[in-house]
Amino acid sequence: MVPTTESESRKLLGRLRDTMAEDAAGQARLDNITHLTADSMKTEVCSIYLFRDEDTLELCSTEGLKPEAVHQTRMRLGEGLVGRVAKTGSIVNAADAPSEKGFRYMPETGEEIYSSFLGVPIQRLGETLGVLVVQSKQARQFTADETYALEVVAMVLAEMTELGAFVGEGAALSARHQHQVVLRGTTGQEGTAEGHVWLHEPRVVVTNPIADDPQRELVRLHEAIEELRIGVDRMLEGASGGDSEQLQVLEAYRMFANSKGWMRRMEEDIDRGLSAEAAVEKEQSTARSRMAQVTDGYLRERLHDLDDLSNRLLRLLSGQGRETGAELPADPILVARNIGPAELLDYGRALKGVVLEEGSVGSHAAIVARALAIPLVIHAGRITTEALNGDHIMVDGDQGIVHLRPDDTVVTAFRDKMAMQAEAQKRYASIRDKPAETQCGKRIALMMNAGLMADLPSLAGSGAEGVGLFRTELQFLIRNKMPRRSELSALYARVLDAAQGQRVVFRTLDIGSDKVLPYMKPNDEPNPALGWRAIRVGLDKPGVMRMQLQALLRAAQGRPLSVMFPFVAQYEEFRAARAEMDKALAREVKLGHALPSRMEIGAMLETPSLAYAPKQFFEEVEFLSIGGNDLKQFFFAADRENERVRRRYDTLNVSFLTFLEQIIRRCEETGTNLSFCGEDAGRPVEALCLAAIGIRTLSMRPASIGPVKHLLRRSDLGEVKTVIEEARDRGEESVRGAVMDYLRSA
Ligand code: PEP
Ligand code: MG
Repeated sequence: MVPTTESESRKLLGRLRDTMAEDAAGQARLDNITHLTADSMKTEVCSIYLFRDEDTLELCSTEGLKPEAVHQTRMRLGEGLVGRVAKTGSIVNAADAPSEKGFRYMPETGEEIYSSFLGVPIQRLGETLGVLVVQSKQARQFTADETYALEVVAMVLAEMTELGAFVGEGAALSARHQHQVVLRGTTGQEGTAEGHVWLHEPRVVVTNPIADDPQRELVRLHEAIEELRIGVDRMLEGASGGDSEQLQVLEAYRMFANSKGWMRRMEEDIDRGLSAEAAVEKEQSTARSRMAQVTDGYLRERLHDLDDLSNRLLRLLSGQGRETGAELPADPILVARNIGPAELLDYGRALKGVVLEEGSVGSHAAIVARALAIPLVIHAGRITTEALNGDHIMVDGDQGIVHLRPDDTVVTAFRDKMAMQAEAQKRYASIRDKPAETQCGKRIALMMNAGLMADLPSLAGSGAEGVGLFRTELQFLIRNKMPRRSELSALYARVLDAAQGQRVVFRTLDIGSDKVLPYMKPNDEPNPALGWRAIRVGLDKPGVMRMQLQALLRAAQGRPLSVMFPFVAQYEEFRAARAEMDKALAREVKLGHALPSRMEIGAMLETPSLAYAPKQFFEEVEFLSIGGNDLKQFFFAADRENERVRRRYDTLNVSFLTFLEQIIRRCEETGTNLSFCGEDAGRPVEALCLAAIGIRTLSMRPASIGPVKHLLRRSDLGEVKTVIEEARDRGEESVRGAVMDYLRSA
């Protein structure tokens, strides 16, 4: 046998390209490929096995084995040498195949006369689609060059997107990316949406795996790499001083972009006849298979980085992607591995939903999705590999489920659910201008939480009576440099304009630890939620807080102003923060600026300690707002970001309600205004119980105002209170069951 040399592999690729350019379709085309591969590699046999379903492979074409075995011979994943290649995704090269462990011969194929066996996986981006095999009578080990040549043929095969159409008798494997896929993730933001996939970073489809002119391909590769390096350097410049994780990623990008080994391997591939795109993808495929095997978190991350970088390079080479000015599809649903808050904001309300492969409940992207009120599913594993641009997709943010290319039954059920929700929305719209007054005549003030200018239109739309919590950190998180005082003040003024005299409670910056500003030096803290955050940062390094207080005062200019400090754990912190406000006021007076017509300064109650602060604190603070998200995590010692524990304890747990009642009582004693602004305020049953135990102001996502108001208006708080007390007397852990029973019977 003549070993395949480099030029021979190029020749083989040339012949492959001609075959693919021919009109032959389906089976005939596959047969051409096995024929010419066997011929070029000078082996008696060449066969293609493709997945029929998840764990069965089918012989789909052969040169040399018995033709009647085609579409008849099948094997399970892991069975025989072919099954082993498919299962492990690695090459089997055996001079004496029958003596190999696990060898199993298929009598109907007549393969018993062949000794040597070389099998390579047919893979596209780390996903195995089948196995390509050559066999010969002579017992010999295949050379590295021969193996390479076969791998290249396998790669070209993988690129033939109609691959699936080759599996016989109208059966099984249809083309990739055509099946319905259901992915289970986690709720990032509730709501449902139907639309079409828009990949934030589209995967490039390589249509020209074989090079016409290797010299030209090398030039193209070098030019693209140069562009890539410049781009990475620019990103690094822009991110200097940013958070360590982002820098780490960019440094890894730079390392890969300058890696000689990476470059050399791609150059060799081009030299052997691949196009520049195919050479990049071949490397990317190898990295992806490695990724599947690596368990070390750090290494996996770096392989992910290489994958991202390869995608960038592919987009540069092929001119595909956003850079080309492609337009969003109708009802776009954004699909990404992860996305930054600023990028998400750029898309804005054009998006109907967002699906992320990674992400976390408290990530900045999740905060923005919530602000934009678009359903978000996070941890949707494989979504970026499964979805193609334009695919039909249904996002169930309530359940954290994504239906990709859903079938008719799913579509019908999903649309029914959406119609029911729309129906309910109509009902809520009809009570929008009515008060949240209960059957027993109690008025509950329903306000909304906001954080972006984009939220403000919801004020009128939802019927909220003001903004009970304006999270100011979003303005700091979405840009890569510290906003200026004048910018902030202009923004706060616009917020007040939009509120048209309704109360807006601005919460000062709640950053630090998990909410790290891209332009602030990050701190490595073992327990960020218990770390140097919010008011602690504000008091220790008062520069930013002073700037923000000034911006707020200037925005108000003769209008009332409400400000609250986050994460106050003891009286002293409140006093110190208030003193900063007094100083800021004095400065404004000195400068001759107009002051707010009225000021109220409050605090968020987010740590249990504050519930036991001295009476003087309750007398001094003008209002308190319970930040239930944090308060609950500290009360139960259960991380609100940790999927394993964050839903473990019920808000309607008797201990927590009893604790809240204590806070309510203390506020009643001192006449301190009290509200509740955690996520639970927006859950109707929770909101009802909070009202029943005495909370009179609830602040929530705008979309929750309708459902909460609807339930409150039909309820009698006295009765609910009795139900709660009876459940407590019976020693029940949570009052939820009792309240739900009551609601059902009522
Ligand atoms: C809370 O903790 O409940 C709260 C409203 O603040 P955040 O969710 O921004 O921490
Ligand atoms: Mg909080």
